[in-house]
Amino acid sequence: MPLLPESVRAHLVTDADVARTYAVDSSPGAGAPEHFEVVRARSREDVVEVLRYAEAHRVPVVPQGARTSTTGSSVALEGGIVLNVEALDSIEVDEEERIAVVGPGVVNGNLKAHLTDYGLAYPPDPASSPTCTIGGNIATNAGGLCCVKYGVTADYVRGLEVVLPGGEVMRTGRRTAKGVAGYDLTGLFVGSEGTLGVVTEAVLRLIPAPDPALTVLAVFDDLDAMMAGVAALHGDRHTPSLLELLDGPSLAAIQEVGDFGFPTDGGGVLLVQSDRPDHTHEDVQRYAELLRSAGATDLAVADDATEADLLLQGRRALHAAMEARGHRLIEDICVPLRHLGELVSRVHTIAGGHGLEALCSGHAGDGNLHPCVFFDAADPQSVAAADAAFGDIVEAAWDLGGTLTGEHGVGALKAPWLAGELGAAEMARQRAVKALFDPHGIMNPGRVYPLT
Ligand SMILES: Cc1cc2nc3c(=O)[nH]c(=O)nc-3n(C[C@H](O)[C@H](O)[C@H](O)COP(=O)(O)OP(=O)(O)OC[C@H]3O[C@@H](n4cnc5c(N)ncnc54)[C@H](O)[C@@H]3O)c2cc1C
Repeated sequence: MPLLPESVRAHLVTDADVARTYAVDSSPGAGAPEHFEVVRARSREDVVEVLRYAEAHRVPVVPQGARTSTTGSSVALEGGIVLNVEALDSIEVDEEERIAVVGPGVVNGNLKAHLTDYGLAYPPDPASSPTCTIGGNIATNAGGLCCVKYGVTADYVRGLEVVLPGGEVMRTGRRTAKGVAGYDLTGLFVGSEGTLGVVTEAVLRLIPAPDPALTVLAVFDDLDAMMAGVAALHGDRHTPSLLELLDGPSLAAIQEVGDFGFPTDGGGVLLVQSDRPDHTHEDVQRYAELLRSAGATDLAVADDATEADLLLQGRRALHAAMEARGHRLIEDICVPLRHLGELVSRVHTIAGGHGLEALCSGHAGDGNLHPCVFFDAADPQSVAAADAAFGDIVEAAWDLGGTLTGEHGVGALKAPWLAGELGAAEMARQRAVKALFDPHGIMNPGRVYPLT
């Protein structure tokens, strides 16, 4: 790789061990390539310099936040530059307009904490909120636990500042509540997974802070009853602010890492919250009644925020529980709500058919499931079985009218499947859009769209 401009060289990570930590994300089996550079940008000008240089020398660039991607979308590329923007972490709040203008490196959880002083909130809350960045959230159109009521990242991004390959600084969107001037290029960049340019600033819509949430935890003996519970909540006039599902195998896995009082003999658990100002107590009591009528065999209803938080502890242990089980592929599929139960059943049939174990958890209120298939990485047959199960689960989602990714994005892992969802003509149109912004294909090549 030719020498980087001097201004940027100052921000190169020179320690090889440290650089390798920037080379991988949270996707299974992610590994560092042999040759790559890591630049930790300190300003928009650094980003401009890197993209000017990269375009001139046709060097691939991987924009990067906190590396919590589960799809391989922020893994370093051979001969490329990892352009980490975590240090661009300014926050400016305009209380009157209820917006925040933030750098892409702001950690999602830090923005939420910052806004409490203003009585405002930024709803999107991926489970990775304590570490993931707003730039990464925008690039993946991240969802999370509260989407059932508040929607996804795209619903809160009004405008962006983006640096394009070659170094041009582009502004999209607006600061105002409304605006239809031209095509929605902000929407195009949200969810583009670093394949078009680097987000260097975002204008985010805020809402008045809701009340501290209260929780209901409902235990079910069987899947049909649990799905009847989801349907009953979906029909309620006051949408829960969180509706999470843990199936029987998820509960068993969680109980292996700590005693959260979950049953381990099948069934499943729904976790439901209300944060409706002045109505949380009333809502959780009504949700509990709906769930009891649907067939819940055990219910716990929180009286205060501390209890509400305690009831979520088991859900929070899920990631550690999955890690403790060993090598795994985590899916992110989304189906119409009425097919969610069928999807859970099919996942277990598919995994069992390949001789593997699986668990299903997810954002039940959105039909967004994260099936996790476990395999033995030392056994090539088991690895092949896991790959096959991964593909079969995507096909099951399509068969049920769903999509291959609800919120994690396509990344590298699902790039081979994208054409199966979009079709040839749409793939060609999308590649043409990418070429408009990135004519030489230097932005995160091989992610979202397979290399041709
Ligand atoms: C334990 C755990 C729980 C998770 N839970 C959820 C969840 O509930 N909901 C959910 O949606 N996701 C979840 N995720 C996935 C992940 O956290 C999200 O995709 C998150 O948005 C990634 O943010 P990041 O800062 O880590 O980005 P990275 O992983 O660094 O990058 C992700 C993508 O964004 C691009 N990117 C990053 N910054 C920029 C930028 N400034 N400009 C352009 N492109 C950029 C990268 O190139 C890459 O394509 C979870 C992950 C983990 C490990």
